Amino acid sequence: MFLRELSVSAGNVKGIGPATIKSLAKMGIYNVAQILCHYPRDWENRSRIVPLADFDKGKVCTLVTVIRNEWRQFGKTKTLKVHIEDGSSRAALVCFNRPFLEKQLIPGQRYYLFGTFSYKYGELQSSSFEFEAAPPPQTAASENKTFPQTVPENSGGEKDFFRILPVYPLSAGLTQNYMRALMRNTLRQYAAPLENELPETLIKRDGLLSKARALAALHFPANIEQLELAKKTCIYEELFYLEIIVGKRALERKNTSSAAVSAVYPGRQSAAQTNAVNAAGQVVEHAAEHAVIGKREKNFTALQQRLIERLPFKLTSGQEAAVFDINQDMDSPYPMARLLQGDVGSGKTLVSFLAALKAVEKGTQAAIMAPTELLAHQHAENAARLLEPLGIHVAFLTGNIKTSGRSQLLKSLASGDIDIVLGTHALFSKNVVYKNLSLVIIDEQHRFGVTQRQAILAKGEQCDLLMMSATPIPRTLALTVFGDMDVSVIKDLPPGRKPIETHLAKVSNEKKVYDFVRLELAKGRQAYFVYPLIEAVETEGELPLSFLKDAESMAERLAKEVFPGVKTALVHSKIAEEQKKQIMESFRKGDTKILVATSVVEVGVDVPNASCMVIEHAERFGLSALHQLRGRVGRGGGQSFCFLVYSDELTEDGKQRLKVMLENHDGFVIAEEDLKLRGPGQIMGTEQSGYLKLGIADPVRDAVCLSRAREDAFAILEQDPALLLPEHLVIDSVLRRAPPFLDTGL
Ligand code: ADP
Ligand code: MG
Repeated sequence: MFLRELSVSAGNVKGIGPATIKSLAKMGIYNVAQILCHYPRDWENRSRIVPLADFDKGKVCTLVTVIRNEWRQFGKTKTLKVHIEDGSSRAALVCFNRPFLEKQLIPGQRYYLFGTFSYKYGELQSSSFEFEAAPPPQTAASENKTFPQTVPENSGGEKDFFRILPVYPLSAGLTQNYMRALMRNTLRQYAAPLENELPETLIKRDGLLSKARALAALHFPANIEQLELAKKTCIYEELFYLEIIVGKRALERKNTSSAAVSAVYPGRQSAAQTNAVNAAGQVVEHAAEHAVIGKREKNFTALQQRLIERLPFKLTSGQEAAVFDINQDMDSPYPMARLLQGDVGSGKTLVSFLAALKAVEKGTQAAIMAPTELLAHQHAENAARLLEPLGIHVAFLTGNIKTSGRSQLLKSLASGDIDIVLGTHALFSKNVVYKNLSLVIIDEQHRFGVTQRQAILAKGEQCDLLMMSATPIPRTLALTVFGDMDVSVIKDLPPGRKPIETHLAKVSNEKKVYDFVRLELAKGRQAYFVYPLIEAVETEGELPLSFLKDAESMAERLAKEVFPGVKTALVHSKIAEEQKKQIMESFRKGDTKILVATSVVEVGVDVPNASCMVIEHAERFGLSALHQLRGRVGRGGGQSFCFLVYSDELTEDGKQRLKVMLENHDGFVIAEEDLKLRGPGQIMGTEQSGYLKLGIADPVRDAVCLSRAREDAFAILEQDPALLLPEHLVIDSVLRRAPPFLDTGL
């Protein structure tokens, strides 16, 4: 039995009740396999005692003696403060809302304490901790002067307090302790008979764990070494199967297309050939270098030519090269699978329209899918403006369109009255039928975590596929996810764009920023203000977040106090689609001057007259989000500005990150810097890349493991493409009986 064959429902696990079943369902967990694949997002290491003086980030286990208790006035309430020491340092426990601890933490007695410490007001403090009574020291020699010390074997026994414990992502109604117990029961009931999914030769070669042991140790490791080995095993296994799947797909494409393609189109090579991996696991990259376009004959169709003539500007050479590649793909007898990469503002939308025209010219339909209603709507408007004058029938379809209009629209799609349809993923829902869809375009493709290439392409016959992305994809990742695709890159921005001037400003200097924006507004330009929160939050967990500015309150403040008389609007994900559309429309037309938003404006919004992007609490955004946000301005001819407003207590790390934004404008460089700064060894599962949803591996963090897995997988496929050798039978069985749930967005 393979892990993913454990499809018995979660209700079969001992001790599980209806309420838990509901809570698990909220996280998409319905069966035993899914429970076991609910990997910890972190582990708490309570197995080693750390001297107070050596406390580090995160929680540590200490062995301390209580010195004395005192009551302190904190705000309106009295709070218990317990002073402790351990020979290395003194510290204080601040017991918010836990007055009863006075009777449990007794001066003179020793305790094992597990908590987070930090320096505050000149002393070492913890307000988040668990504890357990410890035996008194037996001899003077074992006094807590010798560090590091491990917890005595017998003191904890089976008790959780001293172990390495998993920390799970939870949904409402679940607690860590409950989830841990549930996982223990599930492992006990189901894990032992699990078969290995990796070939034995690879397990032996790398000294990996068996599947059953790896899984058990991943959830409840006996020690750190075992945890590392369990991670290594599970990560490798996942990446190995990812590469087997990518490799098989590349093989299939090569087999079906290469011979015929080179016969008909001697110049054309498929990605499987040019992007193929050589023996060393390196890749020969194939991209449309715009420099070469001069040598290519232009191959615009009549409709494309007509659109181009109507434009108030010339195509950039990157755009021309991309259209050239696309036209060639669409003329070939094999379905196109092309990724179009280009930095924000490079004009990908226009390329997608030109591609759609080619489909229409062949007498077929094209669908353009965007990740948000906002963006889909904007595309639809542009398409209507640019394409309808050419006699093309354009439509906008989202999940929100009211039923009467919708059924009419669906009819026209099915009858072929509509040539080009734009929308969200609703374009591919079950009841949408096309007369003859031949081209699917996916904008900002990284946003579609759950999009299945097969499901989308199934709407037409031999559909061509064009994916577009502004988020630069690190090389390793590009290979993995797009290993079987052709790639075009637009490297140039439209001429006349001035680089956006970027400034860092402390929150305490916000007035200067606002004054600057006021001058821009006076020149008739528009501004975005972006905040990390939608509305004011009282507290979240232990951290009071009330010092954070939020979009809602700031929209009010900006409109009333800072820019009185200037038309200001607020947009965020909780606002109804219909209203959002109107707000955006008003901003696009220039009626609204200031748009206050959360990161909803991050993707795709295009208002060339906007010249200021103010991002408050900039340190709270990822670098690529900042790059995307900044890309919302600088889209017209004039000078644009981006202000990154940061909190007064920004860490060195945080400043470093923001500096990257000052010094770089190239999205690819920023993405690389981001990786460097984040560094390896990120806590598992917290920084999944948006391209590929894996269970435990992160292709960026685990790049080394990835390339090894790729080499292994490709070597196996090369030697034994049908997986018939005895040592490869297990791979074939896994693929047939329990294929991995790899969500590659393809
Ligand atoms: P992105 O690649 O980020 O999706 P868009 O397609 O939104 O970029 O284009 C950004 C802006 O550039 C739009 O206002 C578009 O009309 C304009 N644009 C596109 N191509 C050109 C060009 N060749 N010359 C000048 N402006 C262009
Ligand atoms: Mg775009």
